[in-house]
Amino acid sequence: MRFLLLIILFTFSLLSFGQIQRCSTDEYREVLKEKFMYNSHKKQDKRQFFYPSNGNYDIPVVVHVLYNNDEQNISDDRIFSQMETLNNDYNALNIEINDIPEEFQSVIATVGFNFCLVQEDLNGSPFSGINRVYTDSESFQGFSDGMKKSEEGGVDPWDVHNYLNIWVCDLNGNTLGFSTMPDDLFAFPEKDGIVIDYEYFGVDVSSTSPYNLGRTATHEVGHYFNLEHTFSSGCSDWGGDGCDDTPAVQYATYGCPSYPQESCSSNDMTMNYMDYTNDACMSMFTVCQAERMIDALLTYRTNLIASSNCSVSVDDFVSSNHISIFPNPVIDFLNIDIQNNFVTIFNIYGQKIMYEYILDNNKLDVSTLSAGTYIISVDMGHYKFTKE
Ligand code: ZN
Ligand code: CA
Repeated sequence: MRFLLLIILFTFSLLSFGQIQRCSTDEYREVLKEKFMYNSHKKQDKRQFFYPSNGNYDIPVVVHVLYNNDEQNISDDRIFSQMETLNNDYNALNIEINDIPEEFQSVIATVGFNFCLVQEDLNGSPFSGINRVYTDSESFQGFSDGMKKSEEGGVDPWDVHNYLNIWVCDLNGNTLGFSTMPDDLFAFPEKDGIVIDYEYFGVDVSSTSPYNLGRTATHEVGHYFNLEHTFSSGCSDWGGDGCDDTPAVQYATYGCPSYPQESCSSNDMTMNYMDYTNDACMSMFTVCQAERMIDALLTYRTNLIASSNCSVSVDDFVSSNHISIFPNPVIDFLNIDIQNNFVTIFNIYGQKIMYEYILDNNKLDVSTLSAGTYIISVDMGHYKFTKE
């Protein structure tokens, strides 16, 4: 009887693991490789990378929300929470950073990527960065790439050289998400980008899933910038991820293991974003991983940083020819040195917050804005102000 119970428990645990595919990027690349007969990059490519100590790169993002029902049409707030998670994780500002075991603390990296929603659409008009598209498709098959094709109910990627395209949709089966890698850009520009199931995009505190804190995107963006899984080759070749500061780990780690866990004669860095643990239990990239990503950005994806329609780098964006805007910081009314003109206010993610016509009283009521930094855009340029 006890034996039977064990078998049932074992089968159940296998089944529950089988229900989730934390990441399908490796499988996706196999499909691409077989289908189109091209050579994927060498996994164990380990070389010296250029790592500027004060890296600070803007990455413009367009989020395509493909929805067939209201539930799939996730809120703006969910999307903003995802941008915030990415920005925290890629700048070592995540709350878990102090809990990383001492032996790994010296290799924690501040990658220095700033993600923002694009400010302009393909015609150069002001845009929220969130492209909502209704689809007849109730869900999408993972590797068929239908979500990336308008003729199959998806949406074609925006200029892949200038934008990081993220498709958010209902994925069939067990997959949370998958990404292309940099060398796919040359073989399949029409597929370049990241796909994430709508349930796992952004922070959803009402969800009971252990993948509700936006780390699926953190992980997939790692692939997009050429990172491999830390467990890629088990115990050989530093784990096959081209990084010797991520200890080799024999298998992917699921759940939320306590420290230390040992395999391949060293303690596993289970809290690395490129392992498979729960969202709450992954918390760091290493210096080598940061080097790989920056190298990928500067080698394959340079147009992303050349792209000027990202407003997170607030100071670069702000005009030098001044008009008078005061007081700054402001509490309720902003005085603006213009009359009979339109002004637009963006938040630091490039999201349009306000669009108003200013009459001859030069005053704009900003009392409803929450505290923070904003960009005000008028004919003469862009200006930064702080709302208190
Ligand atoms: Zn992965
Ligand atoms: Ca490694």
